[in-house]
Amino acid sequence: MTGDRERFRPADHPNDHFLLTTVVGSYPKPTWLNRARDLHDDSSAFDDEAWDEAVDDASRLITGEHERAGLDVVCDGEMRREEMVEFFARRIGGYEFNGPVKVWGHNYFDKPSVVSEVTYDEPWLREEYEFTADVAERPVKVPITGPYTLASWSFDEAYGSDETLAYELADLVNEEIAGLVAAGARYIQIDEPALATTPDDHAVVGECLERIVTGLPDGVRIGLHVCYGDYSRIYPELNDYPIDEFDVELANGDYDQLDVFTGDDFEPDLGLGVVDVHTTDVESVTEIEANIREGLRVVPPENLTVSPDCGVKLLPREVARSKIENMVRAARNVENDLDSGAIDAGGRTT
Ligand SMILES: [Zn+2]
Repeated sequence: MTGDRERFRPADHPNDHFLLTTVVGSYPKPTWLNRARDLHDDSSAFDDEAWDEAVDDASRLITGEHERAGLDVVCDGEMRREEMVEFFARRIGGYEFNGPVKVWGHNYFDKPSVVSEVTYDEPWLREEYEFTADVAERPVKVPITGPYTLASWSFDEAYGSDETLAYELADLVNEEIAGLVAAGARYIQIDEPALATTPDDHAVVGECLERIVTGLPDGVRIGLHVCYGDYSRIYPELNDYPIDEFDVELANGDYDQLDVFTGDDFEPDLGLGVVDVHTTDVESVTEIEANIREGLRVVPPENLTVSPDCGVKLLPREVARSKIENMVRAARNVENDLDSGAIDAGGRTT
């Protein structure tokens, strides 16, 4: 791996400084796509071919929406995915589904069970990546649910150890990423939200990441996204992770946890959440500029990636779009201020 971010700088980038703007992954689905799914579930008249066409159209539309917002690295908003564990479990050998379990309120989650050895039977995201890369002008990032989260959010009826299961799944994630890289992918994000709730397992996640990056060629950017937890319990240990970027949610907590990372020791690039995905209030460009400057207290501009706190799929679509548009404008303004010297590389006004 290398931390080579310059490959993601667009040819027409307007400023000398470059704050890489991207998203965490998920995006609200168009209302018509959800309607199409219902039709496909209920009616043979809306057949697999019609459904595939609908999903392709949604993927094309949302990738374009990301590009029109000006993002440097885009994705398709996970239009092909319903849920972050189930999508993968349906493609991994050894999993079974026994029906939905209640998770909170009136929400249900079809928590899968591992009933035998997990196996890699087919590519998981190759179709998603190849389609998106084909329709996108900008580079495409591929978010993948990490093995620790896949193991933690499944029933284990085969291994008797979540740790062993996580390592076996990490080897499969490694195989999937090797295939994605062969198809052209250069920016992979491992999502490990489960680590936020069980931070004492940071060494297990570290071992998973070592397995994930084994044998990958240079020039593949590996990010790790962890959200809604106490980061002090996985830091400084995460400095030893074999990652190029650590992506955090901090706008939601008004940067109260930023002090965990300040000082001279933070090693990976920082992927900083600068808009809150839990409020429908659209942050102003000025407000987001201030959030970006918080990130400059941790890393210099050439190591700062700008993104929303987390996936935006639960927001109304117009709100999601507006937040991302304002985020990109704010990043370009901060670059401009860095170029002119109006703020220094530590985010301070000069
Ligand atoms: Zn998240």
